Amino acid sequence: MKNCPYCKIEVGGNLRKCPLCQSKLNGEGEKAYFPMQTTLKIKSFFYKLQLFIVWIAVIWSVGMDFLLHLKVWPLDNIHWSLLVALWLIVFEFGIMRLFKKGISSARIMTLFVFLVLLVLMITAYYVGHLRLVLDWVAPIVVMGTLIANYALAMLDKNGNAMIYLLTNLVVGILPYIVFYFAERDCPICWIVCLMVSVILFVGAVIFKGREVAGEIQRRLNV
Ligand SMILES: [Zn+2]
Repeated sequence: MKNCPYCKIEVGGNLRKCPLCQSKLNGEGEKAYFPMQTTLKIKSFFYKLQLFIVWIAVIWSVGMDFLLHLKVWPLDNIHWSLLVALWLIVFEFGIMRLFKKGISSARIMTLFVFLVLLVLMITAYYVGHLRLVLDWVAPIVVMGTLIANYALAMLDKNGNAMIYLLTNLVVGILPYIVFYFAERDCPICWIVCLMVSVILFVGAVIFKGREVAGEIQRRLNV
């Protein structure tokens, strides 16, 4: 057993420092009381490593942009390093999801997808392809999110089906909003997206309607 020469106490396990005064302990250590969290340590190292690399990228591009006035085509008229920073912030948000356990719910996944889409729109605006993103990429991403959430709701065995379906209910409103404002000029891809949204809604009612109704009844106490 280890002992502290200052506090005159004996300390079990294999601690290196005295829990009272933080001095180095003397004597032979015993078997550790608590298991070592090696996976957490490795994870935390990689988390710090990627965070460091991200910071290098941000500082490097801000320096190149603002101090050296380096221009990157086709972003001649703006500070391109701000776009780089924006993408890296979104990247960090995604990384946080990967490293933190237990928050990989449909809501956060969907939020991440839409954050990427938003930054893509901002980038496209400055590069000059906003129309392409709005007419094609956005509806395809919305459709993909709807289908993925629906598939997850159908396959789910952990009682999370409701979360996926409710997320879809929120996302599924988007094509209706676009259709409402665009009317006759509605891009074909958004129309397809609208139909997919309706089909999935009907599917959810047919396959999971009873469960959804039950859940609503339980929550509202009716
Ligand atoms: Zn001590």
